[in-house]
Amino acid sequence: MTDTILVINAGSSSIKFYLYDIDGAQELAPRLGGQLEGIGTSHPKLRVRDAAGQTLVEREIAPGHAPDVPNAQEVVGTWLSGHLGGAPLAVGHRVVHGGPELSEPVLIDDAILAKLDTFTPLAPLHQPNNLAPIRVIRERRPWIPQVACFDTAFHRSHSDVADRYALPERLYQQGVRRYGFHGLSYEYIAQRLRKALPDIADGKIIAAHLGSGVSACAMHHGKSVDSTMGFTALEGLPMGTRPGRLDPGVVLWMMERGMNHDEIEHLLYHDCGMKGLSGISNDMRELLASDAPSAKLALQYFAWRVAEGMIGLACAMNGVDGIVFTAGVGENSAEIRQAISEHWGWLGIKLDPERNARHGPRISADDSRIGVYVVRTNEELIIAQHTLALVRQR
Ligand code: ADP
Repeated sequence: MTDTILVINAGSSSIKFYLYDIDGAQELAPRLGGQLEGIGTSHPKLRVRDAAGQTLVEREIAPGHAPDVPNAQEVVGTWLSGHLGGAPLAVGHRVVHGGPELSEPVLIDDAILAKLDTFTPLAPLHQPNNLAPIRVIRERRPWIPQVACFDTAFHRSHSDVADRYALPERLYQQGVRRYGFHGLSYEYIAQRLRKALPDIADGKIIAAHLGSGVSACAMHHGKSVDSTMGFTALEGLPMGTRPGRLDPGVVLWMMERGMNHDEIEHLLYHDCGMKGLSGISNDMRELLASDAPSAKLALQYFAWRVAEGMIGLACAMNGVDGIVFTAGVGENSAEIRQAISEHWGWLGIKLDPERNARHGPRISADDSRIGVYVVRTNEELIIAQHTLALVRQR
């Protein structure tokens, strides 16, 4: 039986999983990818496809079998062990928060798990769901090594200045820091640039992860220098359902109006961003297809504020050698990339319409002062690579 690495990315309503074969040359070859979605709803569904995109399974799961993430993980685990006829060599997990110190993936033991629990207040919506499958696997198959890979880790190379808000030092010491997120995606971009665009890979790069969550990262010599996201995944650029930049006075105003913590939290994570501004949807495809003035307003807001936030990162590096778009919107929407780039016309940045329509890799015109590129992200592969490397070290 070929050894495999399993990668798990668990959220509140879905578990995504990816299986990689470790081939003879120690390379990782994708074997299958799946998702159990609708956790906690009346119609959870398991869908798995092989590397060629052929459906291996697509079926409804009885709601009683997937009322929460731990039970859903059982369903996934049972299907996988039936399909594989064994267990993976190791499991790598996406864990959103590694706190102030963890700058590398780690093998999980009880002490690490207890430490990761303490970061739950810093990422209340993500961290518990990320940790739930780890617990289930430790309980049911304790012999399988598990590795946690953090969205914050790539940003631990930030300077003291980039790590801070202009707040009293004691708050910094208590953990109020600019952690930054989407680090696994940026780490992949840095790795990919070395292969695909070696001329700029060591240069000053502004990369923008435009998915349901949205952020941008300044990278120099392949390391993160600054991020538009900070203490939580709310800061910075506008997102599908999160506002991005916001005067903290707005939160004080909401509190004064009697909204409690949970109501404000729900509003900020689920009802703002493109969804709140358009009143239509958080999905860019729907907004692009809509004639409603509020959809146009939301798209204009997105392009303007994303353009502003991305180019502002140039200050962290005193220059830019290349700009990279990635994730759902960044990889697939020529229209939104064009709308963002129009705010940079004064800098001599120009897209080539045909290259942009083909989704790159290079989308800028030959006479653009700075090259603009589309690079498909692959966070799962980064997790699989780290997991294999740590298991090998052991
Ligand atoms: P996640 O952060 O959930 O992993 P993705 O990176 O897959 O998200 O991005 C999801 C978003 O990408 C969707 O909400 C949708 O708005 C957007 N998207 C996907 N395809 C397109 C497209 N062709 N045009 C515009 N937006 C798209």
